[in-house]
Amino acid sequence: MIIEFENGRASTIDQIRDLAARFGLAIEVILRAGVYSTIHVIGDTREFATREGYLRDLPGVRTTWRVTSDFKNIARVVSGADGKALRRDRRPVVVKGLDGAARSFGAGKHIFIVGPDSPQTLPQTLAIANVARKIGEEFGILDRIMLRGGAFKPRTRPTDWRGLGMKGIAMLDRAREETGLPYVTEVMDLNLVPEIGEHADMLQIGTRNAQNFDLLEAVGRFGKPVVLKRGFGNEVSEWFHAAEYIANQGDLDIVLCERGVKTLFTKGGYCRNQPDLNAISYARRQTILPVIFDPSHVTGDHRLVPENVLAACSHLADGTITETLHDESFRQDQLCDAGQAVVMDRYRDIVEAVLVFEEHVAPRLQAITEALDQR
Ligand code: PEP
Ligand code: MN
Repeated sequence: MIIEFENGRASTIDQIRDLAARFGLAIEVILRAGVYSTIHVIGDTREFATREGYLRDLPGVRTTWRVTSDFKNIARVVSGADGKALRRDRRPVVVKGLDGAARSFGAGKHIFIVGPDSPQTLPQTLAIANVARKIGEEFGILDRIMLRGGAFKPRTRPTDWRGLGMKGIAMLDRAREETGLPYVTEVMDLNLVPEIGEHADMLQIGTRNAQNFDLLEAVGRFGKPVVLKRGFGNEVSEWFHAAEYIANQGDLDIVLCERGVKTLFTKGGYCRNQPDLNAISYARRQTILPVIFDPSHVTGDHRLVPENVLAACSHLADGTITETLHDESFRQDQLCDAGQAVVMDRYRDIVEAVLVFEEHVAPRLQAITEALDQR
């Protein structure tokens, strides 16, 4: 830890030295000309850092920095056994389908998660799943297709429709049986993690629960793969810390999902959330976890979904999770997120565009990115 303080504060230096000594740590005071100097606290400062609030309150202390990463399970660069920086490889997250194929997030190929906002009727759920399977077969990418659908819906207004609960899960189960495709579904209540988790292939933590720490730990203990959405008001570091809550329980099968944040500018109503595309690149560089993108909740408008999917590809996202409709005529009956659902015919075209991008542009982009990273 580094502590910046005003020059001429001898008693503050003494207090910091005394506290560091209690934790068996030494300090180095680097006096500089001018107004501020720094103290470097040397050694394993994890325990010492729990006193950061006290340190910041000492007379003349301007700020403190934690130099070591505090998301050790998921960070790309960690301290190795020899105490030197160790750069780890990114780690794929695998979700197996009933069809026997493994969907591997972060293995260099875009994974397409597709489905309704919520399973509302069995025909709707099965229709989407069957078209998703057909698209997978048409392009030879069945092992890159997964289903989505929230049976337990977080709704802003308590009077809004909140999903079919376990009945919706049963519809997703049927879709999986019929198509072999695995599915991801949201869990909001930590008490329901075992019940939902027993059915689902992958659990989703939604944006509103991104900092529900008990839920994060319950999902981590359960041990299934997880899609962790970024909280709509969270900094990336808070998102990483949320992932660390899951990882701390021994579950590293976490896929980060950027789904846009609320800003001053989203209030104008032209898009539902502000896509923070650079967060995809940043998370890919800073963590070992796969990173996907949600073009549906970012836009709130199905007409904006295609360009957002391709924008995510240009940030080398490991996949996308997109809300769809089986038929335009169903839009008037869809009870949640009706305006952002892409009809499956159009979704097919989006998949095709992604595959073209993947073949012709992504390798060049990746080469440029790698060259910049190695400077
Ligand atoms: C969803 O996936 O339907 C959902 C509610 O997402 P988010 O938590 O990102 O709003
Ligand atoms: Mn939704």
